[in-house]
Amino acid sequence: MKALVLEGLKDMNVRDIDAPKVPANEVKIQMKYAGICGTDTHLYQGLPGSAQATPPIVLGHENSGQVVEVGADVTTIKVGDRVTIDPNIYCGHCRYCREGRPQLCEHLSAVGVTRNGGLAEFVTAPESVVYPIPDELSFKAAALTEPVSCAVHGVKLLDLDPAQHVLIIGDGFIAQLFTAMIKSLGVTHVDVSGHNDQKRDLMKRLGAENVYNNGTETVPSGYDVVVEVVGAPATQAAAVDAAGKGGQVLMFGVANPDQTFALNSYDIFQKELTIKGSFINPYAFEDSLAFLAGHQELVESLISDELTFDQVADFLGGKFDHKVNKAIVNVSESVK
Ligand SMILES: [Zn+2]
Ligand SMILES: [Zn+2]
Repeated sequence: MKALVLEGLKDMNVRDIDAPKVPANEVKIQMKYAGICGTDTHLYQGLPGSAQATPPIVLGHENSGQVVEVGADVTTIKVGDRVTIDPNIYCGHCRYCREGRPQLCEHLSAVGVTRNGGLAEFVTAPESVVYPIPDELSFKAAALTEPVSCAVHGVKLLDLDPAQHVLIIGDGFIAQLFTAMIKSLGVTHVDVSGHNDQKRDLMKRLGAENVYNNGTETVPSGYDVVVEVVGAPATQAAAVDAAGKGGQVLMFGVANPDQTFALNSYDIFQKELTIKGSFINPYAFEDSLAFLAGHQELVESLISDELTFDQVADFLGGKFDHKVNKAIVNVSESVK
């Protein structure tokens, strides 16, 4: 089968590899679409995502496709099902899995990170992480179930009320999802602090009340909830600064592992701040699919670039000459 294989540091090539065999508890999926995100850029550059990727490996952790074969022990998924995959596979046996916090699993593996993913004609995944999608949901939108589910998990970690003032720091695809999702949950006042003036109208269309350019404008403070979706030291420090008394700060942006930022601990003490990390997407796929079913047109409109395999390396290498809001790979087209 045709696959896009990460063979080393910034070395990704289209190869003909053996189609995967199907273990008894897994299903084989013919891929339709695979989303590409910041995690793939990190993996391409040799940095860890949810885990470390060891080449040679096929990336692609935001997947949709159709089931073509099921293992002998599979009971809930059948051939022909239209599906999406939760890439994160938990061991089920460690302390965290047993305590209902599987995202902290000590033996986390992931489709498209530690095992071959969806940038190939076929991918296999355990039945337990394969989710049938609603008939009305397109394969294109369904490929975004994973990033949407990560935002769902982040939102679930917050105590949200309609009267709170929320600030989203970032204006990329995930920041856009957070804006739309928090608005859809009934919060009236959501502001955005970004750096891209061209995205101002889009953020407002998604429900933002005020959109600030944090490079050229002063962003107010005193927010009840601040969601940091960039992962850079300056925006992380700004997130804590922007939180008011009793504020909650959600650290969602993926930072480089050795990165730090300065915190004013008196502020944390005196304002009773809560600073929370949000990692991957436990128990969030059903809510993500429901959000997508209700916002399909909106989410699809955020996809700016539909790529084929031969364009992915250039995209991950930062060689595109235009701004990409969200890229998705048309896998069926790529393997023709
Ligand atoms: Zn992703
Ligand atoms: Zn575990």
